[in-house]
Amino acid sequence: MSAALATSLPAEIVQITTDAYTEPFWLAAKEDRLVAPKCADCGTFRLPPTPFCPECRSKAVDWTELSGRAEVFSYSVVHGFPGLPDITLVAAVLDLPDAPGARLIGNIVDVDPAVVHIGMPVTVQFSTISDGWKVPQFRPLD
Ligand SMILES: [Zn+2]
Repeated sequence: MSAALATSLPAEIVQITTDAYTEPFWLAAKEDRLVAPKCADCGTFRLPPTPFCPECRSKAVDWTELSGRAEVFSYSVVHGFPGLPDITLVAAVLDLPDAPGARLIGNIVDVDPAVVHIGMPVTVQFSTISDGWKVPQFRPLD
């Protein structure tokens, strides 16, 4: 018996809400680009996006495009979801080597959950959800 590969929630049940601080992230994702906010004054990356830099309190932000490579910092395997008893999800906290100090939460997909491990290299792919938005997901780097 082969293990179920990790997948993501069905697109139609995933919805996002944007605001002035997060919308640039989601607009870039719509174009299959992974970006992170970087303080325009001191260079500190911050995710999730915040109104002020936690280091210097500047409001100035440069949205920096990243390579899409990431590394698993931590993860959990979820077997079943309300209404979806057969689904297998791997929810991960990811380090972003191009944005030191920033971490992103995302699903790892198309992988046997048993092989996921801390430090595993992954790369981004984008998946369309409700209302035409896209979310970043990650798959193992070959
Ligand atoms: Zn700063």
